[in-house]
Amino acid sequence: MIIEPKIRGFICTTAHPVGCAWSVQEQIDYVCQHGKIAGGPRKVLVVGASTGYGLASRVVAAFGCGAGTIGVFFEKEAEPRRTASAGWYNAVAFERKAQQAGLYARSFNGDAFSDEIKQKVVEAIRKDLGQVDLILYSLASPRRQHPRTGQISKSVLKPIGNIYTGRSLDVTTDTLEPVTLPAATPDEIEQTVSVMGGEDWEYWIDALEKENLLAPGVRTVAYSYVGPEITRSIYRDGTIGKAKDHLEATARKLDERLRKYGGGRALVSVNKALVTQSSSAIPVIPLYFVLLNKVMKEKRVYEDCIAQIYRLFATRLYAGGPIPVDDKGLVRMDDLEMREDVQSAVCRNWEKLNDRNLAQIADLKGYHEEFLKLFGFGVNGVNYNVDVDPDQKLLSASS
Ligand code: NAD
Repeated sequence: MIIEPKIRGFICTTAHPVGCAWSVQEQIDYVCQHGKIAGGPRKVLVVGASTGYGLASRVVAAFGCGAGTIGVFFEKEAEPRRTASAGWYNAVAFERKAQQAGLYARSFNGDAFSDEIKQKVVEAIRKDLGQVDLILYSLASPRRQHPRTGQISKSVLKPIGNIYTGRSLDVTTDTLEPVTLPAATPDEIEQTVSVMGGEDWEYWIDALEKENLLAPGVRTVAYSYVGPEITRSIYRDGTIGKAKDHLEATARKLDERLRKYGGGRALVSVNKALVTQSSSAIPVIPLYFVLLNKVMKEKRVYEDCIAQIYRLFATRLYAGGPIPVDDKGLVRMDDLEMREDVQSAVCRNWEKLNDRNLAQIADLKGYHEEFLKLFGFGVNGVNYNVDVDPDQKLLSASS
């Protein structure tokens, strides 16, 4: 089958297995070039391991630290005349490369929010690894079925209190478009917190603790975002920000609990804004990305997922000594994004932005390239005119 990108707004409905495998290899190469991380984890669980920050975390744990990894994700296998999802191909490629490198890797494709998947993962850890010393929680999901009540919650991306009116980027035409978002209802806020807050993270730790699977000195890290003033009403002060507040409060609670495991830690890392499948769907944020990326590239401080996570491991989590955190106890990997000179340049451009100067002051080309690459397209070295088999199997086949 010849596979081409089919883009529908902010999603691409096809993915290329060879392109995805090359992208995973690029991440592995980055880590190998930057060197081994001494004192890193050995047995790692990554929840949300197939794309974006979770995939990068699995790559750094495995190829930077030599860790055995268990990855959990929710992806689609190929069907007749339909490719698998990009995350599926990423996971297939990751497992093959881990096996070639002699590293343990096992994957579970299913709903991380369910007790069923937690139980399967618990069994695998008990049988194969004994315990885990790092749990990375990198889920981004539009919905959650609560494992105890069966209630389905959907996350919404809306402001709280006031209607938002502003501009967004129409990524299909590369033009600015007006956007109006109604204020969220209390029920919508609650549902978003249920999906993207910390409750499920805590349930994972409960499940592991109950079976004595937390190794001495265990660490668990979840990912959050803060961002600048210009996206505040839609992100940090909006429904997703409320969920992130809950995630951060959960970290404080878990941190207390994990201390008894030989000084274990639970932390939230605030990462940089990056183009991923989830973040592309957030209103207004892609417009901020294209301005931010232009400035960060010009100042030579741009980082992608793998660079961020390698730096997180090498300079924060496993640098030796106390983990550096801000006054709220958060690990700040968004330091370069939030630098004063970067933000003031982005703000100046945000103010003067119009359809005529958009292409000049925004990194539209970079955005489209990064977006296509998420699905395995536009990857250097891949011949897209060659027939490929879309039906690729996971080596561990634990779905
Ligand atoms: P992503 O869409 O690339 O990855 C989401 C992962 O979650 C995938 O592996 C997917 O398979 C998995 N997933 C979704 N629903 C699932 C379910 N029900 N069961 C099992 N797995 C499921 O997202 P991302 O942008 O890498 O986001 C990961 C985390 O990082 C999120 O908490 C996000 O808020 C945070 N973060 C993202 C950014 C950004 O700009 N992308 C910045 C800072 C923090």
